[in-house]
Amino acid sequence: MSDRICRHCDYCMPCPQGITVSHILDYEPLSMSFTEEYFFTGNMATAMAVAAECDNCGECVNKCPYHIPITDMIAEYVKKYNEGKKRYLKKQATRT
Ligand code: SF4
Ligand code: SF4
Repeated sequence: MSDRICRHCDYCMPCPQGITVSHILDYEPLSMSFTEEYFFTGNMATAMAVAAECDNCGECVNKCPYHIPITDMIAEYVKKYNEGKKRYLKKQATRT
C-alpha cells in the first residue's frame, strides 16, 4: 500500500545528497504554518535548495517501509516552492 503520509521514522536516511527527506515531505503543513517571509527566506529556503539536488537515485524510496513516492513528492514540492518563491519575490519587489 502506498500513501503520502510520512511517519518521520527516518529509515530512508541518510540521503547521499544531504536532503532532509521527512522535512521536505512536510511541505504542505509547513507552508500553512509559517509566514511567507520565513517560509521563503528562512531554513526552508536552504532545505528546498538542497532538495532541488535530488538525483532520483532511489535509495530513500527503497528504504521507506511505507512505500511513499518520495522522489515524486520532492519534485512536486520543489516546483511548488520555486513558483511560490518567485511570486513572493515579485510581490516584495513591487513594494519597494
Ligand atoms: S522512511 Fe518513509 S515514512 Fe520514514 S521518514 Fe522516510 S519517507 Fe518518511
Ligand atoms: S532519491 Fe533523492 S532524496 Fe532519495 S536518496 Fe536519492 S538523492 Fe536523496
